[in-house]
Amino acid sequence: MALRTLDSLGSLAGKRVIVRVDFNVPLKDAVITDDGRVRAALPTLNALINQGARLVLCSHLGRPDGAPDAKYSLAPVAQRLSELLGKPVAFALDTVGDSAHEAVAALEDGDVAVVENLRFNAGETAKDAAERCAFAEQLAELGDALVSDGFGVVHRKQASVYELAEILPSAAGLLIATEVDVLDKLTENPERPYTVVLGGSKVSDKLGVIEHLLPRADKILVGGGMLFTFLAAKGFKVGKSLLEADQIDTVTRYMTEAEERGVELILPVDAVMAASFGADAEHVVAPADALEETAFGATGLGLDIGPDTARIFAEAIRTSKTVFWNGPMGVFEMPAFAAGTKVVAKALTEVDGLSVVGGGDSAAAVRQLGFADDEFGHISTGGGASLEFLEGKQLPGLEVLGWQ
Ligand code: ADP
Ligand code: MG
Repeated sequence: MALRTLDSLGSLAGKRVIVRVDFNVPLKDAVITDDGRVRAALPTLNALINQGARLVLCSHLGRPDGAPDAKYSLAPVAQRLSELLGKPVAFALDTVGDSAHEAVAALEDGDVAVVENLRFNAGETAKDAAERCAFAEQLAELGDALVSDGFGVVHRKQASVYELAEILPSAAGLLIATEVDVLDKLTENPERPYTVVLGGSKVSDKLGVIEHLLPRADKILVGGGMLFTFLAAKGFKVGKSLLEADQIDTVTRYMTEAEERGVELILPVDAVMAASFGADAEHVVAPADALEETAFGATGLGLDIGPDTARIFAEAIRTSKTVFWNGPMGVFEMPAFAAGTKVVAKALTEVDGLSVVGGGDSAAAVRQLGFADDEFGHISTGGGASLEFLEGKQLPGLEVLGWQ
């Protein structure tokens, strides 16, 4: 079944519409350091404002302990939203209390209010369904309908994501609709050749994604910290690089399965080996089968894919019609080990087809390396949620909106 779209709610003019957004932005001393998630909500908010709906926005921010905690207040976010929308945004000092009810009562058509952090209420994330339901009932009093648009939380069974959507007439916002549309293309009938690029720190974080995408991809490229477990499985020595010895059997099975299915699993032919883990560490390029034969011997640390590997990966990416990339190729946070990630990101911008970046650190990496969001087909806003979608899991926050 398909997601219920905004249209399914009928005319929302004059109606109080609760919009569950993901405004979980990074804050430093109450200043927003990246407003990407606020911007991502704008298309849905503008569509609703243009219809003359009365918007009641709710979100979580950080991990407060189910009680008010000033450092996780959404006040700075409401302020930023007002600047981005170019109109006043009311802010309620509580989530479902007097302040919230007053702010909602004062709304006129096209007006916007933000209520305080959902997670200041223990019911939002309660394990007990009855507790979540009770909080969802309180939230439901603030609106006539729910538009769910916080893609980053759809994998969580939480009051505002799940129970509230059962109580009120509910539909997916434009952000969730776009995310689902794009991620679905990566699992159902992708245009071929289809290349999946995997990196990041641990292979054990990505087993579900590898298992679900391996049978669907034409090529799988392995970089990041996980590449060393694959190289170790081939019998190569990897020095002190990130190695998950307990996953060697699993990755060996992946290599066999790839071969049986005719999927090209491409491993690095070289890596950047460093003397230690640090931005200024001495480093050299070494062939994949001789990583311990550098001046650092068996104490060397692999912190990036090498230049030959980057070239091979870039070529495979550029010549694909669908590319999904999750996980930086190296420790991109340090410029000396960011080259592989940069070459791969550049290649994704050159794909004549659909290129998708998923994963929190991967999205941060492309932005930090100076790429603009619109150079890619899509940058997924939901780290954990996108990966769980690509593992083929049923996500409660989507299921409740009609998705199957
Ligand atoms: P994402 O959030 O995009 O899913 P991950 O969380 O899996 O990505 O991994 C990101 C982290 O992986 C980055 O902080 C990066 O420094 C680290 N990383 C990449 N390559 C290596 C490596 N060779 N050794 C250690 N850490 C690595
Ligand atoms: Mg991460």
